[in-house]
Amino acid sequence: MSDALRMSVEEVRDLLKLKQQTHQLARLVDADDCREVVLDQEGPDFTFGKRCFSVWASELRCSNCSSYRAHHTASIVKKQERVGHRLYEIHSQPIHMVLSGGAVMPVTMEVIDSREATEDDMTIPAKVNENGEYLIRHDVLTGLLNARGFYEAVRKVLRENTKERYVLISINVRHFKLLQELHGAEKGNHVLLIFANRILKMESTPDTLVGRLWGDEFAIFKPYRLFSQDRLQRELERAEVSINGNTIHVQAHAGVYPITEPRIPVSVMVGHADMARRNIRESRANLVSFYSHELLDSIIKKQEIISSFEELMAENAFRVYYQPQVNRDGKIVGAEALVRCFRADGTIIPPASFIPYLEGSGQIAKLDKFVWETAAAQLKKWSSRDGYKDLAISINVSPKDFYYLNCRQVLDNLVEKYQIDKKKLHVEITESAIIYDMERESHTLDDLRKAGYVLEIDDFGKGYSSLNTLKNVDVETLKIDMAFLQMTEENKEKGKVILKSILMMGQALGLKVLIEGVETEKQFQTLLNMGYDYFQGYLFSRPIPVSEFEAVLHENKYRIRGNA
Ligand code: C2E
Ligand code: CA
Ligand code: CA
Repeated sequence: MSDALRMSVEEVRDLLKLKQQTHQLARLVDADDCREVVLDQEGPDFTFGKRCFSVWASELRCSNCSSYRAHHTASIVKKQERVGHRLYEIHSQPIHMVLSGGAVMPVTMEVIDSREATEDDMTIPAKVNENGEYLIRHDVLTGLLNARGFYEAVRKVLRENTKERYVLISINVRHFKLLQELHGAEKGNHVLLIFANRILKMESTPDTLVGRLWGDEFAIFKPYRLFSQDRLQRELERAEVSINGNTIHVQAHAGVYPITEPRIPVSVMVGHADMARRNIRESRANLVSFYSHELLDSIIKKQEIISSFEELMAENAFRVYYQPQVNRDGKIVGAEALVRCFRADGTIIPPASFIPYLEGSGQIAKLDKFVWETAAAQLKKWSSRDGYKDLAISINVSPKDFYYLNCRQVLDNLVEKYQIDKKKLHVEITESAIIYDMERESHTLDDLRKAGYVLEIDDFGKGYSSLNTLKNVDVETLKIDMAFLQMTEENKEKGKVILKSILMMGQALGLKVLIEGVETEKQFQTLLNMGYDYFQGYLFSRPIPVSEFEAVLHENKYRIRGNA
């Protein structure tokens, strides 16, 4: 559990005022840089605050800084220290200060009180300041600056050169852990050394600072005017290391943060560059990525969704919408259950903005269980109503569900609990789920099918191994998304040939073929002429709440379409 408080700048300011009234000393500090943070009208300023240890009439940072520990462990740290005959009590509270734009700055609120030391207090250790030993600002292995040295040096340059613009670059050796496992720690160090030398060679100007912050992460700080993306990319491409006479190609990625906000903590600047770097996908082509506010926004959103998922679940923020599926006559034969997330302010977050994150964190399994159960309960309600009895509901199953759940067990329990017909609960899986299942030989899909569930391949044609997957798995339905074909005027004819061929192939294999993403009457007519039987798309309806779905069905609105 983290003790770090998440607070807006205003809240921090208020709390600080309160503490200043009730304690002898209260202040905000940037523990990485040993500096007080000034909260002025423009917001926090990490550059011009006093060195925080100056409060101890000291020239050097403290070796046992409680705020440093509080900051790095995200927990409250209390400490007693004696200076001569006075006893000091220091209380360090880590805070994640949220700026108005949403960015989060770590600070520590330090509250200090003192009193005359008693006889007993004399056992409490006296305050010591760091000596040379603690002041090692360099990495022993490479001789580069270490994290502390780098932070301090960057801060100093920024403070002394307010007119110059700078960039901060974070570089990471790809698959370093694997490399170390394969060749041993010694070779690992060897790689780091060679790497450090390469960076030093490339960055030999006196205006440039180079550090090895930790492990295989390096950082460069330099004036923007000396930065060239092409050059950096070329250097990273050329990273070759010889191990036991073999030349290994060591890849490195770099994230670049052009320092637009010199007032923020250096650790946050490094974080920005790291964030950009981690955003690079596994690719040979692109080794450099830039930090941007959009990137930060998307990552903040991602973290918010992951961290507030349980809350959203508890608040019933997730609701299931249904998108009708119709036959040639325009009659509704079923629905696809699609989840929506309603925020407290009434806005809806579309699934594409949170499902991938929840898949990454494994929370998708919990969400999907909820969606499946809602669908099962719905089928139960419909099972006794005329006009609804024959409806099927398709549910989406993420490949990650196979990993976190026993899908067969979960679905069986639902069928049992709601006493529904298995054949009405259609299970939509993507090709990636099929491949996942095959590679792990988990037989989840076989199991589901043998148990009597109807399997549908979703987004057929989107992947690249479509035909092969069909051979390997027994499914009832192919779902093709027209949108994938992205038909323009020029390639429209070819698109049509593809649609026609998939239909013929599906039919030849005895499969039901449904086409989704149908948006216009013209598309619908063309598809009808080709011989398609089942459809889904905005032309008929967007995904809608169940009440609307029932109203539409009641009016039998879709019968008027098609050739009926
Ligand atoms: P999908 O399974 O391919 O779902 C179809 C998506 O296409 C839906 O987007 C639907 O609203 C959209 N769509 C329907 N008709 C049209 C049309 O005519 N034109 C266009 N352009 N789009 C159309 P939605 O609801 O935003 O869902 C996006 C994706 O999120 C889904 O793609 C699915 O992969 C995932 N998803 C949604 N709900 C769930 C869920 O409960 N569990 C899991 N695991 N994934 C879900
Ligand atoms: Ca689907
Ligand atoms: Ca789909």
